[in-house]
Amino acid sequence: MKKIAVLGAGIMGAGIAQVLAQGGHTVIMRDLQMTLVKDGLQTIEKNLEKGIAKGILLKEQKKIIMSRIHGSTDLADLHDVDLVIEAVVENMAIKKQIFAELDNLCSYHTILATNTSSLSIAEIASSTRRRDRIVGLHFFNPVPMVKLVEVIKGIDTSPETLEIARDFVQNLGKHPVLVNMESPGFVVNRILIPYLNEAIWVYGEGIAEKEEIDLAMKLGAGMPRGPLELADSIGLDLLFDSLQVFYEEFRDSKYRPHILLSTLVRAGYWGKKSGRGFYNYRD
Ligand code: NAD
Repeated sequence: MKKIAVLGAGIMGAGIAQVLAQGGHTVIMRDLQMTLVKDGLQTIEKNLEKGIAKGILLKEQKKIIMSRIHGSTDLADLHDVDLVIEAVVENMAIKKQIFAELDNLCSYHTILATNTSSLSIAEIASSTRRRDRIVGLHFFNPVPMVKLVEVIKGIDTSPETLEIARDFVQNLGKHPVLVNMESPGFVVNRILIPYLNEAIWVYGEGIAEKEEIDLAMKLGAGMPRGPLELADSIGLDLLFDSLQVFYEEFRDSKYRPHILLSTLVRAGYWGKKSGRGFYNYRD
């Protein structure tokens, strides 16, 4: 895996490109416009500068890392890469179009990975003629900090592709967790999202106050953060969308969002990012 392309220079794309370059890889980071690519490069630079300020990175190292990342808006620049990690917007039509284009452009040995959180890997793979070489690589935000990467097998992903993907993640200094078959939420979100929803049900039913619920889960279940604080920082809109996906996909009432969550989302109270969720962040 000498040369790797990252598609998308947003939150995840920039984080992934940074970690790859820190791991010694040459990276092409591609977005639709040069301004977006530059924003992504700036995010990486700022992150590395924080590392210098903390004394965990040298100025010269930052220079070397940045020199490994090449910004691009031209898909043709990806013709000779060994691996592509796609981190563009969460939209099936866009992802399928990109994978079809990559399939025509890249040589057969190139593995095409998607960082999707919720879309079907089988469906993305169906737009290519290399279904065996499509895999899910689910990084978590913030990518440079979180050690976990879920490595997801699509219905046609070959054992060889899975093995290469797992080794690759390990060599980056991350911990791969193998997901044997695609399913909404994979492992972490499949467990986390209903847990957060249940906390909202407990709060919505008036069983305890929000601060008490958060404290109870921290002290009684060893959670580093309470579920309602965590829901606020993930974003209530995202939580609501994820629950809708689970509910639609499994047709199981255990995934129905509590009405309080729907109401907060409709009111624009999306948690920390909008200044109010279960808690108020404005004052
Ligand atoms: P984002 O909106 O920050 O960035 C997406 C970027 O993709 C944008 O800069 C956009 O211009 C670019 N883009 C759109 N179409 C493109 C194309 N055809 N070619 C190249 N770039 C294109 O989104 P994000 O939060 O970084 O999420 C990206 C992916 O990662 C999604 O699939 C999301 O589900 C997944 N993901 C997100 C998180 C998270 O916490 N944000 C965590 C895990 C996985």
